Amino acid sequence: MSTATATTQALKGGEWIIRQGTPEDCYTPEDFNEEQRMVLEMCNAFLDAEVIPVIDRIDNLEPGLMPSLMDKAGEQGLLGTSIPEEYGGLGKDFVTATLVNEGLGGGYSFSVAIAAHTGIGTLPILYFGTPEQKAKYIPKLATGEWKGAYGLTEPNSGSDALGAKTSAKLSADGKHYILNGQKCWITNGGFANVYTVFAKIDGDKFSAFIVERGFEGFTQGPEEHKMGIKGSSTVQLYFQDCKVPVENLLGEIGKGHIIAFNILNIGRLKLCAAAMGGAKRALSDSILYAVTREQFKQPISNFGAIQHKLAEMAIRVWVAECALYRSSRWVEEKEAELLGAGKPFNEALLGAAEEYAIECAILKVFGSEVLDFVVDEGVQIHGGNGFSAEYPISRGYRDSRINRIYEGTNEINRLLVLDMVLKRAMKGRLDLMGPAMAVQKELMSIPDFGSGDEGAFSKEMKVLGNLKKAILMVAGAAVQKLMMNIDKEQEILMNIADMAIEVFHAESALLRAIKMANSKGENEAALQLDMARTYLYDAADRVNKSGKDAINAFADGDEQRMILLGLKRFTKTEPFNSKASRRRIAAKLIADKKYSF
Ligand SMILES: Cc1cc2nc3c(=O)[nH]c(=O)nc-3n(C[C@H](O)[C@H](O)[C@H](O)COP(=O)(O)OP(=O)(O)OC[C@H]3O[C@@H](n4cnc5c(N)ncnc54)[C@H](O)[C@@H]3O)c2cc1C
Repeated sequence: MSTATATTQALKGGEWIIRQGTPEDCYTPEDFNEEQRMVLEMCNAFLDAEVIPVIDRIDNLEPGLMPSLMDKAGEQGLLGTSIPEEYGGLGKDFVTATLVNEGLGGGYSFSVAIAAHTGIGTLPILYFGTPEQKAKYIPKLATGEWKGAYGLTEPNSGSDALGAKTSAKLSADGKHYILNGQKCWITNGGFANVYTVFAKIDGDKFSAFIVERGFEGFTQGPEEHKMGIKGSSTVQLYFQDCKVPVENLLGEIGKGHIIAFNILNIGRLKLCAAAMGGAKRALSDSILYAVTREQFKQPISNFGAIQHKLAEMAIRVWVAECALYRSSRWVEEKEAELLGAGKPFNEALLGAAEEYAIECAILKVFGSEVLDFVVDEGVQIHGGNGFSAEYPISRGYRDSRINRIYEGTNEINRLLVLDMVLKRAMKGRLDLMGPAMAVQKELMSIPDFGSGDEGAFSKEMKVLGNLKKAILMVAGAAVQKLMMNIDKEQEILMNIADMAIEVFHAESALLRAIKMANSKGENEAALQLDMARTYLYDAADRVNKSGKDAINAFADGDEQRMILLGLKRFTKTEPFNSKASRRRIAAKLIADKKYSF
């Protein structure tokens, strides 16, 4: 597998909470190489040529259409980007594979089918399979000859995936596991050839199995009637004394949770990439509509209210992209480091994804919510036509909603953020309490007003640094106050997660804009600086609101007053004309008639 040599100083997972990144060390889309740009273009061209023209037929679940489109994608190598060459893939690096997810992300239900096949449908076997299992299944999955799916969810165990009831029992002759139970909501389930299915051996050892269509005792239900992604096959799977050969046990007995959770880390980052592909398409559709639709004898794009929407949509997409590729590169670099240390490729990527599991959860939440925001505002820009099934934006609106539900609901992912940070702090992997105590000490001191002239972008970096202090202050105080009971205070955990989500994205955007300004000059990077500054300015207020809600929930008296004062100090911004900034951003979108950042 080809992996890029490390060029940036990757921060460890979660380390950005306590340490500021630098523009030079921030990997950005401007760093994509020629091949990576071509891959993105190729994916978009594939959607335009093969998928968008038949999207109504896809949504009508025309028999055989989706698998045949997946075959075409397979012929172009789009199903095996990250699979090692020895298994019939292209062996590309992690950033390139992420670009494929983004590039194919604007294909509505097709994107879901492809993402499920290349992600949860293929990766469990690729990363946890024995050499024999990999040799048997991966080459077929890499080309699309076989389609893959993943059966974890059951009617009574969704978020609580380990509460699964499906059982597995070794047969009397020791040759098969006999599976009994039911899985639901299985993407690609209606046509897949191979499934990773989770079941409990002897009722308690949660384990994974490779199940082929055609195994005795395996059947599927009819297609679900869904609110969106109507063209994506979603069925229930039934196992009635289903005979799975013992050699199809995947990974170790009782270690199914390791497979389920590790695959999710990568899936969350990839979901963000696909959401960005969808958001860019929806935004471009909306810009084009705004410049063509006339009311009051002029294009609606002339109106400030519409320009505000277009600019805000672009800002959020751009900001999400900054964090996505910054994190993807971190994963790639960690993978290269682990490979260099002699780890096999599967352990290297899984280890890398685990290192950045906090960022993966953050990206999933933010990416899916940006997509929802963009399609919602897109419908609004389209007015009544946005409500018509004939316009692509209404399909985008319906199809977007699922992203906040699968790959771990956004609530579960938000809750995971602080949970993972605290676990790392307890294990000594992340020094949270040291910096948190330092911030508490700083609160007692006279504020540092600075000399006023500390170089380019120092003001923005100071705002960012203060926002990090706000997280440390609130998280540190909450942990001290609530101790072991903190996990019972979900509202506070969600508040702190929201602060972290804002700050990670604000930082990624600011570093990218400053890096551009440093390399191309401030004029060239003026709009990127506008986007980063507008986001930072708004983020400070959102951090303040989340922080306030958290503090008011766990502190009182003098302590409450002191922390609230600190929050005010750490979320302070200077006056900023965000209207003018958004108008400049909108002018570019309108001139280009598409999202072009
Ligand atoms: C179209 C579609 C495709 C899917 N594809 C697949 C697939 O291919 N394979 C697969 O295995 N699964 C798949 N899923 C299932 C999906 O992953 C689950 O729906 C998801 O994990 C949520 O589980 P649930 O639906 O049981 O909701 P629940 O877990 O019942 O959650 C309901 C609500 O309660 C909240 N909640 C639950 N637990 C907590 C908690 N501890 N704290 C706070 N809030 C909580 C949730 O956030 C949510 O808002 C798919 C689902 C859909 C709709």
